[in-house]
Amino acid sequence: MKNIDYAAPRTIAEAVKLLAEKGDRARVLAGGTDILVQVREGKRDVDLIVDIKKIPEVNELRLDSRGLHLGAAVPCYRIYEDREIARIYPALEDAVSLVGGIQIQSRASVGGNLCNASPAADTIPPLIAYEAVCTIAGPEGTRDVPVEKFCVAPGRTVLGRGDFLVRLHLPVPRRHSGANYLRFIPRNEMDIAVVGAGVAVTLDESRSRCLAARIALAAVAPTPLFVPEAGNALVDGTIADSLIDKAATLAQAAARPISDMRGDADYRRHLVGVLTRRALRQAIARARS
Ligand SMILES: Cc1cc2nc3c(=O)[nH]c(=O)nc-3n(C[C@H](O)[C@H](O)[C@H](O)COP(=O)(O)OP(=O)(O)OC[C@H]3O[C@@H](n4cnc5c(N)ncnc54)[C@H](O)[C@@H]3O)c2cc1C
Repeated sequence: MKNIDYAAPRTIAEAVKLLAEKGDRARVLAGGTDILVQVREGKRDVDLIVDIKKIPEVNELRLDSRGLHLGAAVPCYRIYEDREIARIYPALEDAVSLVGGIQIQSRASVGGNLCNASPAADTIPPLIAYEAVCTIAGPEGTRDVPVEKFCVAPGRTVLGRGDFLVRLHLPVPRRHSGANYLRFIPRNEMDIAVVGAGVAVTLDESRSRCLAARIALAAVAPTPLFVPEAGNALVDGTIADSLIDKAATLAQAAARPISDMRGDADYRRHLVGVLTRRALRQAIARARS
């Protein structure tokens, strides 16, 4: 047992000051569903927990003409309970509905899922597919980083001393677009992904040709994996099984899975193909509906 200090700043500037003073001896607390477990299990040794939930900006959940502004501490349930947000960003709804169970979703945030930087995190592939951008506050002010560049190693991000994630911005999906996130786990809930696939597609007016596509994978590399070449393989093509197969094969080629107790590398690579194909079909069906 050791004493850990707790602070609940009310402004971004106060939080940055506290985090900068303590460096890696301090950790941000959002929902706490990762950090509290890690501290209790001795996997993280901290002197200070900085609870950001009293800062108004991190609780913001707002749709406007620029898209979705998602505060870093907004819990998963607020996203799927807002039917307009769920309608416009269905792959985000797919992912937040899979995180843990209802109790976890009432606390866990998308921001915390991202900052925990697990390669298997469920919300990161759809964020990448939606071209989400992180706004980070730090001692030098604020800066924006695309989600696909945010995680640099398992459990490590681009956040430096004094930095924290304030919000995510997801642009408005274009006309005739659809998206989907699928994961495979050996049971129905309360496990982490063996593989996850998040995809977003935009179709033309006839809804038979693909104008743009983004594909990202979970649990097959040291960080969530953006596979631009797989999405690009669909661009300007007429939607057909052969085109979807081509994108899935490129996603499989990009995957660098490890073997562990959840599945071996070959099995994971096989799943990448299956999930990418299924997620693309569902995203295309959503774009057409
Ligand atoms: C029973 C159980 C089931 C789970 N199931 C799943 C699952 O199915 N899928 C899945 O992906 N995850 C799962 N998780 C993991 C966890 O719930 C998610 O990663 C969750 O989204 C984390 O969000 P949080 O708000 O609780 O983060 P916290 O625990 O508060 O924080 C997580 C990490 O990010 C840092 N952090 C948080 N917010 C910020 C910020 N704004 N700026 C900088 N750093 C920050 C913290 O310091 C900490 O290191 C599960 C966890 C449990 C306990």
